[in-house]
This record gives sequence, C-alpha cells and structure tokens, in this order.
Amino acid sequence: MTTKSQVKLAQRHLSDGGFDPGPVDGDHGSRTEAAVDRALTARVSQLPTGWDNWSKKRKLVAYIQLLCVDARIDTGPIDGFWGPQTDFAYESLVYLEIHGQLPPPWRDQQPATANPNDWPIEREADLRTFYGDVGTNQTRIALPYTHKIAWNLSERIGSFVCHEKVHDSLLRVLTRVLDHYGQDRISELRLDHWGGCYNKRRKRGGTSWSTHAWAIAVDYDPARNRLTWGRDQAAFAKPAYNTWWQLWEEEGWVSLGRTRNFDWMHVQAALLP
Ligand SMILES: [Zn+2]
Repeated sequence: MTTKSQVKLAQRHLSDGGFDPGPVDGDHGSRTEAAVDRALTARVSQLPTGWDNWSKKRKLVAYIQLLCVDARIDTGPIDGFWGPQTDFAYESLVYLEIHGQLPPPWRDQQPATANPNDWPIEREADLRTFYGDVGTNQTRIALPYTHKIAWNLSERIGSFVCHEKVHDSLLRVLTRVLDHYGQDRISELRLDHWGGCYNKRRKRGGTSWSTHAWAIAVDYDPARNRLTWGRDQAAFAKPAYNTWWQLWEEEGWVSLGRTRNFDWMHVQAALLP
C-alpha cells in the first residue's frame, strides 16, 4: 500500500534527481511512473533481476527503499514490498527529512564516533603537540575535483594549502565524495564551493587560534551555510548532504553543524573538547 505522502516523498526526490515526475501532488500518474522507471534504470545494479516486470506500485516501493539505502537506513532487501522493515525505514526517512537527523533510537545504536587518524582534541596545547605551531608543516593538496572560490565563483582552483598531517585523509574524503556524488551532483549541491582552509587568525570573538590557523579546517558553501544559521536555514543540514558528512565523519573529521548546529560550512580535523 502506498499513500499520497509516500508518493509525494518519492516525487520530491525524483524531481531533485532530475527525473521529471511532474508536480509533487501525491498522484501516482503516468508521468511519475515513467520517472520511477528512469530512476530505477539508473540503479539496476542495486535491483534484483526481473524488476522491470514489477507493477508500478512495486517499483515505487523499490524506489523508496533505495532512498532509505541512500540515507543509510536499513530497509532490508530491495524487493518492492512494503513490509514492516520498509515501513519503519520509511518513517525514519520522513523523520530525517524533517529534523535533519535520524530518530533517537537509531542514533543511540550508532557506533561511537570514528577517529581512525587519532585527531587531537581542540585545545591549544593538544593541537600544538599534534600539529606543531600555527602556520607550520603545510603542504598542498591536489584536488580530485576542481573547486570554485566561494567569494569569486569564476575562479577555479585545483589545489589548496593544508596541514601535511591532514593531507592524506582530506584526499580520501574528497575522492570518496567524487565517487559517491559524481561531478554533476557535486556542482548541484555546491560541494565544490570552497570557503577556505589555511587562515592564520584567531577565533571570531575570541583570543584562541582558529583551527584554520593550523590549516586543519575547511569551509564549504559559506553563502548558504552562514556562521549563525541552524539546521532550519543551513543548506548542508539537508538530507542530501548526509553522505557528504558521513564521508568526513568516517575519517574522524568534525562538522560543527552536525555536532553543535552552527557554522555548517565548517569541518575540522580536531575533536570538540
Ligand atoms: Zn571554518
């Protein structure tokens, strides 16, 4: 069984994905049906054989199951059947889209935050021990995809200065971002709008050094993720960015948006005290 709100959710994602489902009206008409077909055709490797003979309702359910997979919600096998697991996964997806995070029971089951690179805690002494003095030990990262400078979008860069200890991890993250999203989606989501890394400055309104002074923090898309904006306004709080953040978090990087709900542009290789 599918409801109007389930169809609407699918239509929203189909529209975001460029599959042209028509208006988001909850009506599972021929245009939406064709859009689901196109979306599934683009993901055949994730579907069982014979899926193309499924009913239009079953295909729609399979598409919603794939949306759950994208959000890393366990929906069971992609079979197009609306069982209890799919129902629970769907409810979690709806919650995620409204609140920007999974419902609490799921969150509690998530493993402790990964820190495979042993990033230090963001305290000046710890940062100096691990990274050295501010403005030292720098290198240049050659980017897997071109970045645009956020304050001058016509200027493109193929590299930027970062701390040598974060170089390899940063490269892994950005390579995975490219693998996952692809160039077109990166541009759409503005994952290439670079707001800076190295900047030898104090924290805004404070006397301690910013993590940018060690070149261990990167800002992305500052125009749509202003410093004081919370998840109701910040673009990077939207579900489309979940994988983006997960790829950073798997490497132990900390998003201030995800952890403190401000400065959603900023990600750093230092844990919060
Ligand atoms: Zn920053």
